[in-house]
Amino acid sequence: MTSFTFEDLQRIDRVRLGDEVPLELFRAIRLIGMQQGLPLEGKGTTASIGRKIGESLPVGTLEELLELFAKLRIGLPRVLQRDERLIRIAVDDCFCKGLPVIEEKKVCDLEGAILEGALGRILNRKVSVRETKCNVSGDEHCEYEIRIYG
Ligand SMILES: [Zn+2]
Repeated sequence: MTSFTFEDLQRIDRVRLGDEVPLELFRAIRLIGMQQGLPLEGKGTTASIGRKIGESLPVGTLEELLELFAKLRIGLPRVLQRDERLIRIAVDDCFCKGLPVIEEKKVCDLEGAILEGALGRILNRKVSVRETKCNVSGDEHCEYEIRIYG
C-alpha cells in the first residue's frame, strides 16, 4: 500500500481521544495554513485539494454526498434549486460560522471544490462550482452554484 483511500481514513483506533478534533484545528489548517501559508491565498492549490478529496468520497448520489457533508460536520447542506444544468446548495452551520465578518471575503472554497470533485465523478460530467455567499461576507449562510456541462 502506498497511499490511503477515504475508507482507510475511517479506521480510527484512538483509545482516549476518540474520532474528533476541535473545529479550531480544522479552521487553522484552512484559514492559517492554506490561506495564509500558500501563494495567492492558496486558491489553485485549495481547488486541487478539494477536487481530489471530493473524487475520493465513497458516495454515489447527490443525496449521499450531502449526507456525508453533514456527517463530516463541514456544514448542513440543503438543495435550493436542482435543474439539468444548475444546482444551488445552501450550507447552514458551515465551519466558518461565527468568524469575524470581513467584507467581500469568502472562505469556503475548499468545501466548494469538494462538491465539485464529488459531483463531477457522480454525474460523470464536467462541473464547476462557485461560492456565491459566505457567512464571513456577512451573508445569512454559505451558498454554492454548481454548473453542469456536456
Ligand atoms: Zn462557510
